[in-house]
Amino acid sequence: MTVQPKGSHFINGAYVEDTAGDAIPVVFAATGDTLATLHAGTPAIIDQALTAAHAAQKDWATWSPRERGRVLTRAAQIMRERNEDLSQLETLDTGKPIQETRVADATSGADALEYFGGLAGSLTGEHIPLGEDWVYTVREPLGVCVGIGAWNYPTQIACWKAAPALACGNAMVFKPSETTPLCALKVAEILIEAGLPKGVFNVVQGMGQTGAQLVTDPRVDKVSLTGSPATGKKVYAAAAAEMKHVTMELGGKSPMIVFDDADIENAVGGAILGNFYSSGQICSNGTRVFVHKSIKEKFLARLAERTAQAVIGDPREDETSIGPMVSEAQMNIVLGYLDKGKADGARLICGGTRLDRDGFYIAPTVFADVTDDMTIAREEIFGPVMAVLDFEDEAEVIARANDTPYGLAAGVFTKDISRAHRVIGQLQAGSCFINSYNDAPVEAPFGGVKASGVGRENSKQAIEHYSQMKSVYVRMGDVEAPF
Ligand code: NDP
Repeated sequence: MTVQPKGSHFINGAYVEDTAGDAIPVVFAATGDTLATLHAGTPAIIDQALTAAHAAQKDWATWSPRERGRVLTRAAQIMRERNEDLSQLETLDTGKPIQETRVADATSGADALEYFGGLAGSLTGEHIPLGEDWVYTVREPLGVCVGIGAWNYPTQIACWKAAPALACGNAMVFKPSETTPLCALKVAEILIEAGLPKGVFNVVQGMGQTGAQLVTDPRVDKVSLTGSPATGKKVYAAAAAEMKHVTMELGGKSPMIVFDDADIENAVGGAILGNFYSSGQICSNGTRVFVHKSIKEKFLARLAERTAQAVIGDPREDETSIGPMVSEAQMNIVLGYLDKGKADGARLICGGTRLDRDGFYIAPTVFADVTDDMTIAREEIFGPVMAVLDFEDEAEVIARANDTPYGLAAGVFTKDISRAHRVIGQLQAGSCFINSYNDAPVEAPFGGVKASGVGRENSKQAIEHYSQMKSVYVRMGDVEAPF
């Protein structure tokens, strides 16, 4: 499979290269081999992309919403037809197992394109009667949007941002993470093939500095970031200085609460999905697993048994269920947290080490007897590291679950339906689950509260973050002026 793209950037409907930009190596995380080399956008490239987006947006906004939607649904269809190739590329770019990328990346991107493509034709304003007079509202695009992505779900993030933005008549310049630059280029190619006018969706590669230049450009009206809370604060502040719209999808330290009446197999399954899928590199992961004291040992024993069944290996192989960390740098961050967990006295149930093989592999790790003050219970690790904490009382566990600056997600496992809704109602989190974990259908709003973000992606809610309402008062009679 050829991984090296025809150019590092995709601007105005075509690949563009400028080798004056810093080199961005694409490293296969399972071997450490460099598969391709791209270049960061120079100021000239950034300007080219913004100029193209700014010019193209004006015409795109005049298309009827249904025609815009048709382009997106066509792109969704192409993505599904090419799912196998796109999944293989995503696996090479991120190191995630092919059994995951086949079902959670291009397919999730296609879901977003299809959903917002279908929604486009029904985006309308209101008629507000005021007796003889009336007001009507017009839903208008924001203009040029900048999307900035993290490295864990590159195709999905590009589509989750592009689909609602484009459906509303905006143009976008998207900057992928420098760690995973390949797949957003494929999204751009497919959109053009589906009939998107040149310049409406552009991709510029680069590091944080490129993102910062995009955010502060006066031609940009909105910034949507998926990234860490630290980066989110910087980008939000830069956007606020120019009064730009923002969506911030940031990290978390989400709680998953397992009550004593829970179905243990399902709770263990939820904890595995919410900690080890994508080698734990998922923002909404339930990394603080609160388990009722009376079932703790039973839960841990079953968790250890099932975790031992994980197939750790080459992510290109069908049977592999755990791949490497995305990069050596991320692996080293996670190894640092493993050391902290051990030093703080948490009980290691399984894992806890780097694997003795090529690539950036960490064994799926479970720490038990974790207390609220330990670093591994307070900071986002973004690796396959689960912290299991005990609790005895419902009110106590709710207070402890909420005792975090974050609020992205939360889950509850119990057979008591009243308790499930009562507890979820008190948890400070944007995306919640009952007897499940980490489902993210495009139909549901996704996003966090507190330090985990601002705004929502997906669902009809996303439309509010990519459009604005113009209100028009219509007087039918004479104007009454005081003089
Ligand atoms: P980072 O915050 O390091 O980077 C996110 C993106 O922002 C990257 O493209 C990065 O560029 C760019 N960037 C960095 N600095 C700036 C800046 N000053 N101005 C503009 N852009 C900048 O996150 P990671 O890529 O390490 O991703 C992991 C994080 O993302 C985790 O905290 C995770 O929780 C969060 N995340 C949140 C999700 C959500 O939906 N809530 C989903 C997925 C991840 P580059 O990296 O190329 O230098």
